[in-house]
Amino acid sequence: MTTTVLTAVLQAHAGRCACPGTCGKEHPGKQCGATHSGEDQPLLAAPQTPHATDAQNAAAPVETLRPWCWTCWRQALAAVRTRAAEQRRQQMEEMQIGLFDVA
Ligand SMILES: [Zn+2]
Ligand SMILES: [Zn+2]
Repeated sequence: MTTTVLTAVLQAHAGRCACPGTCGKEHPGKQCGATHSGEDQPLLAAPQTPHATDAQNAAAPVETLRPWCWTCWRQALAAVRTRAAEQRRQQMEEMQIGLFDVA
């Protein structure tokens, strides 16, 4: 039997979703603790701190990976993406202000 990244991550973290509330939910016990993602869906291995892009998430070093249930991961990812989009919007606005600030 081959050890996949997921099984290694699950073993290292007791096979439970390690979401500390990044998904926006307050988990009792400070951690989600789900052992699966719902109907026959396994947990997934993903960075402890989600990145806004799939490429960044896929490139995360193995030691930063934690078990996540899909519910938490989807919510956490959505929150990170919203923040990233908001930051980009602000940067754009600041650049525009810079461009047109001739005073
Ligand atoms: Zn969870
Ligand atoms: Zn969560």
